[in-house]
Amino acid sequence: MGNLLLSIIVVFLILGGPLTLFAAIKISNILFGGLKARFVKVEGSDLPHVLVKWDQESYSINICRVKVEFDEMVKGGRSKVFSFTLEDKKAKAKSFLLPMKLEAEALACFTDQGAEGLRNAYSKSYFIIECETVDGEAQIFKLRKAAVQKQLAELFTVPKEVDTLPETEPDKWSVLTRVFPWRKVVAVEEVEGGEESAATGAKKEDGPRAPVDFKVTKVWIEPGCIVCDACENEAPAVFWVQEDTCIVRDNAPLDDAAAIKAAADGCPVDVIKFDTVPLAKQA
Ligand code: SF4
Repeated sequence: MGNLLLSIIVVFLILGGPLTLFAAIKISNILFGGLKARFVKVEGSDLPHVLVKWDQESYSINICRVKVEFDEMVKGGRSKVFSFTLEDKKAKAKSFLLPMKLEAEALACFTDQGAEGLRNAYSKSYFIIECETVDGEAQIFKLRKAAVQKQLAELFTVPKEVDTLPETEPDKWSVLTRVFPWRKVVAVEEVEGGEESAATGAKKEDGPRAPVDFKVTKVWIEPGCIVCDACENEAPAVFWVQEDTCIVRDNAPLDDAAAIKAAADGCPVDVIKFDTVPLAKQA
């Protein structure tokens, strides 16, 4: 019996040692070191900045998206959500400051006293900052509006270890989507010469596509495009992504049916449609 107890204690110490250490590191990260996010005011800029800060030495992460949500929890109140994506290749492995280039209506959420005429609008307003890593993990910070305004009233001195990003506009696609279309986009090498070069019809260099046994006779795009660029990267001769939607180019060649199918399959919101006829019927 005594030997059994001793064995259990030894096993517990062997297994429990690393586990206890791991738990202690996690807890200390949360309490003292882990990721922190808050709003700050930076000298020379009228834009609210998000400061995302962590101890790189003990906490190795790559942040790829910052989402900011504003809510007034009163009947008829406001709600705004905007996200800022730092594409995979540019994901930040270092603490950073993000100046948010927002429209006037969104900026008002930071400065006003709540939606007009709504009792308690101010006291029931809060912001949520969500920081997402390239592994898809997210950490959330919830702040009352009063606290945010206090943060934005004090001038923040940017420490050396913090990168300041250029003024950044919110993502054009719906921030509610949990699809990560930019990952497909950044997998493609940048084409020199930008849009015009990309429209030459050059294929992605990721191996040949599986052959298809049909011919495409018509392609169209239904409402709901989130301008993720994936289709244009897949079939640049056919698809052209504009500021707020994607269109099929005038006189687009439909001879590469495999590319069109791949673009439709890769569309995260499934809005690319096409008609086909079997190849066997083409005499
Ligand atoms: S049509 Fe689909 S794949 Fe093309 S940009 Fe829009 S959402 Fe992306």
